[in-house]
Amino acid sequence: MIDETHDPARRSWVESGNDPATDFPIQNLPLGVFSRPGESPRAGAAIGDQILDLRAAGLYGGVSLNGLMAMGASLRRQIGETLDAGASPHPEWLVPIAGAALHLPAHIGDYTDFYAGIHHATRVGRLFRPDNPLMPNYKYVPIGYHGRASSIVVSGAPVRRPSGQIREDESAPPVFGPSRRLDFELEAGFLAGPGNRLGEPVPMAEAESHIFGFCLVNDWSARDIQKWEYQPLGPFLAKSFATTISPWVVTREALEPFRSPAFTRPEGDPPPLPYLSPPGEGLDLTLEVWLNGERISRASTRDLYWTFAQMLVHHASNGCNLRPGDLIASGTVSGTAPDARGCLLEMQPRPFLQDGDEVLLRGYGRREGFARIGFGECKGVILPAR
Ligand code: MN
Repeated sequence: MIDETHDPARRSWVESGNDPATDFPIQNLPLGVFSRPGESPRAGAAIGDQILDLRAAGLYGGVSLNGLMAMGASLRRQIGETLDAGASPHPEWLVPIAGAALHLPAHIGDYTDFYAGIHHATRVGRLFRPDNPLMPNYKYVPIGYHGRASSIVVSGAPVRRPSGQIREDESAPPVFGPSRRLDFELEAGFLAGPGNRLGEPVPMAEAESHIFGFCLVNDWSARDIQKWEYQPLGPFLAKSFATTISPWVVTREALEPFRSPAFTRPEGDPPPLPYLSPPGEGLDLTLEVWLNGERISRASTRDLYWTFAQMLVHHASNGCNLRPGDLIASGTVSGTAPDARGCLLEMQPRPFLQDGDEVLLRGYGRREGFARIGFGECKGVILPAR
């Protein structure tokens, strides 16, 4: 619900948090894990260009956010009261973001990636099946695959170009070598809250209470490896070499003003099956891709065919247990416009990623009458293959 924590007039005693251009005003207060040189990691909340040290402030002493996720407690209200312009200033609880190392915000035990960007699925499907781009299951099943959690890295970590089996000449056997069709995928994802017990599905009515908060996700993809390996079981080594996420988890509460109606299904599409109904609400977040400092794409999470709640419910519908900190990503977010394409595969003949390229994802919510809030950076630079 919208309340005084979303009041656009609210200000903080941290002056940089009152800058209208910051991603992290007092209306946001995303959570992350940071360390100063020589010190061990601890949890913090971003405000302007500073981090509120949650341990120093006496709010949370954990070294990851998993403990908060398990309790379903974002602390956003308490953090806001601590940082409010009307509270006593405690500059000794602040650490400049620029002077800190940012870590993965949680221990991520499992990572699942969906395929809910219908314009991405359609455009990519058309490359292979011009007359019938979407598979017959697409509008019934939220399609997904199990990603690899061990290779999730936080923004700023370099990404090594993978090698793998590639078959460019279809009249010859495949060769093993560096990918030449390395791509990014523009995605949003959520980290799970309390989770469900094995064997106990989550009903739609409870889905949102299992969503702790959101981050940006770059699901790096080697298209040449993917093309040869993906049938019949789906992506494997083409994706598992690295996934980059943004370090700050923007809580579900902070995103309340950016709720939007679920995707409007075109006439003739089947309604969602009863266990995925009603669909809940979507999110109106703008996502951008910057390649070597140039913005090359801008898309919206309004274009996701399935809501995040539906993804979660579908994931747990067979009794699979979700655990605090699990990462569940949307799939590539693309729009219908030519400049709203969430990966290079959709931008051909633009070249695939070169060694040294920097890919930066940004994301934000903006709505009349509310403070703009952002996700910070989700960045990676490509290193040459080993
Ligand atoms: Mn993906």
